[in-house]
Amino acid sequence: MRKFEINTVRKDFPLLERTIYGKRLVYFDNGATAQKPQIVIDRIQQYYSSENANIHRGVHHLSQVGTDLYEEARKTIQSFLNAKHEEEIIMTKGTTDSINLVAFGYSKLLKAGDEVLITEMEHHSNIVPWQMACEYSGATCRYIPLNGKGELDLSNIDELINSKTKILAVTHVSNSLGTINPIEMLIEKAHAVGAKVLIDGAQSLQHFKVDVQQLDADFYVFSGHKLFGPTGTGVLYGKKEALEQLPPYQGGGDMIKEVKMSGTTYNELPHKFEAGTPNIAGGIALKTAIDYFTEFDLSELEAHEKELLEYAETKLKALPGVRIIGTSENKVSVLSFVVEGAHHFDVGTLLDKQGVAVRTGHHCTQPVMDYFGINGTVRASFAFYNTKEEVDIFIGALERALNMLG
Ligand SMILES: *Cc1c(COP(=O)(O)O)cnc(C)c1O
Repeated sequence: MRKFEINTVRKDFPLLERTIYGKRLVYFDNGATAQKPQIVIDRIQQYYSSENANIHRGVHHLSQVGTDLYEEARKTIQSFLNAKHEEEIIMTKGTTDSINLVAFGYSKLLKAGDEVLITEMEHHSNIVPWQMACEYSGATCRYIPLNGKGELDLSNIDELINSKTKILAVTHVSNSLGTINPIEMLIEKAHAVGAKVLIDGAQSLQHFKVDVQQLDADFYVFSGHKLFGPTGTGVLYGKKEALEQLPPYQGGGDMIKEVKMSGTTYNELPHKFEAGTPNIAGGIALKTAIDYFTEFDLSELEAHEKELLEYAETKLKALPGVRIIGTSENKVSVLSFVVEGAHHFDVGTLLDKQGVAVRTGHHCTQPVMDYFGINGTVRASFAFYNTKEEVDIFIGALERALNMLG
């Protein structure tokens, strides 16, 4: 276990040292992607400079080394999620890719009269693939609505989860509001009617511990790049029997057992869902990122992020005209807000000019914006390497921006 010491930790992330327009960078866009520690960057470089070869098919030394490294990455992910079997870990390009893989399979399994249940809080990548699956299969897509705090409104849940429900797809944590959803209860209710559950974990694993066996989720998905790893990497965890039910997503090399001109038999898990040459360097570097992250006691990181959130929230609330969107007591370190009389884009631009990187817009959650009757928010999202001093810089920059806009 490595002791969490903010000043040493920050030195692991080279990008945090840089300046923007001559100002020290304050990076508060971790919800969009997280920065990478030097060892992750080095791991990619090492792979291409001394280990590169294609995996799974070669007899030569480098191909074997690459295969071993890639399969070790799978084992690391397995233990990180506490999955029961190694072959329950499918390596993908990211959350979007993982959800599309499952939703495509469901487009073949669903039929008219079946229901897919999502929520009004989902990222577009956990809405659109399901709408497509319903369009292709004739099933109906329903959703759990929001309440004013940016939580799921569960007042009608026992009608929404019913005997027609085949799959419930819900985010563990909202990317635009920060809300942590009561997924344990939802999984239990879905299972009680025989439905499967997919959890979008793109915003959760970087903030708190997840144990897929304890949760009992059928599918759990995430992106490597939000977890301090490379872009173009991601994971679909699926319970063995849930994955076995699904037809393959893409056809090609590696996912086959035998190909004849008369037809093909598919490979076993996990390879059945991994067609073509994967992002080998990325997968190996994702292992490095997870190894790096799990060196810390996660509760220390959580405590630090909670302190940042409360500190920033108090300061933000004191500013005139600022309204926080997403006020659940149960949330991660994400602060979405609107400013009366100012467009989120202008606020974001004025913050950027002062070196503060935040996200503005709908954050790929247009239904959330519609619910609140707004067209976007300014979102500051914190990682464990952020500091209170950075919050002070952000608040100062925001005050100046508001004065200019006011
Ligand atoms: C970022 C995000 C996604 C999409 O992830 P990609 O890495 O773009 O595939 C999906 N859901 C949530 C909650 C997210 O935050």
